[in-house]
Amino acid sequence: MPYTVALTGGIGSGKSTIAKAFAALGVPVIDADVIASELVEPGSPALQQIAARHGDNILTEQGALSRARLRTLIFQSPEEKVWLNNLLHPLINARTQQLKALTKAPYVLWVVPLLVENNLQRQADRVLVVDVDQATQLARTMQRDGIDLQQANNILSAQATREARLAVADDVINNSGAPDNVLPKVAALNQRYLALAATQQN
Ligand code: ADP
Repeated sequence: MPYTVALTGGIGSGKSTIAKAFAALGVPVIDADVIASELVEPGSPALQQIAARHGDNILTEQGALSRARLRTLIFQSPEEKVWLNNLLHPLINARTQQLKALTKAPYVLWVVPLLVENNLQRQADRVLVVDVDQATQLARTMQRDGIDLQQANNILSAQATREARLAVADDVINNSGAPDNVLPKVAALNQRYLALAATQQN
């Protein structure tokens, strides 16, 4: 298995942006959110199980999972949240392992927005946290998602705190400045991870 660097950070901190910078250096990126949505694509066994339990009401007219209805359901029923996690977590885990095993590169960047919330840090060899101050995080999230301050604040307060994330970080990228400011740091971290991956595998 390749050496695994987990990349995490709060909403709007710049995970996708930083992941692209690593990808531009040739680093394979495995995105936990992408895996999670692929697993419930129309026609997938997981989506069939969800529809069998909750009825076609949980689907959109096109037969896709209705994220809005799923959110309401989970919000209203903790038991259903557990049921869903029990269904999806093993599948997400298996797919993640499968993608890692297919990787020829010395290390992979595993983008996991909810690393701290789901206590997954032990599944990585190293944890890289993208850090920005809260005002910046709120402003970028509002702009990107077209939501107001209250909505952005609600999402933020449901996530782990900045401090909780920093507490599990091996490395931190500060993304408060202009986009290009992080590139030298990304290049330096890439060198470091290649070196760490080499010591692990020899
Ligand atoms: P995340 O994946 O952590 O939610 P994104 O990478 O999507 O965050 O970044 C959130 C928004 O902020 C995006 O619209 C992105 O283009 C923008 N952004 C990211 N980094 C910077 C930066 N250094 N300066 C200005 N805007 C940025």
